[in-house]
Amino acid sequence: MPLIVDTDLCTSCGECVESCPMDIIRLNDEGFPYQKYDECWYCGVCEEDCPEIALVIELPFLVR
Ligand code: SF4
Ligand code: SF4
Repeated sequence: MPLIVDTDLCTSCGECVESCPMDIIRLNDEGFPYQKYDECWYCGVCEEDCPEIALVIELPFLVR
């Protein structure tokens, strides 16, 4: 679950849903985004396009 949403800032505008190239974000019953499918590329577009800076992508821990 890489999406972290600040529900105090989110206005439920749906911009993140529209901007995700993988089409994996949906709004829940309260109007807040969540990751419905697993195919996140960690591209950061949803985070970048959020007008309220309410969304953060949690990057996976990488072992080298
Ligand atoms: S990081 Fe990219 S692929 Fe993942 S949810 Fe956001 S827009 Fe979609
Ligand atoms: S783009 Fe930002 S303000 Fe709009 S629904 Fe997504 S998280 Fe909420």
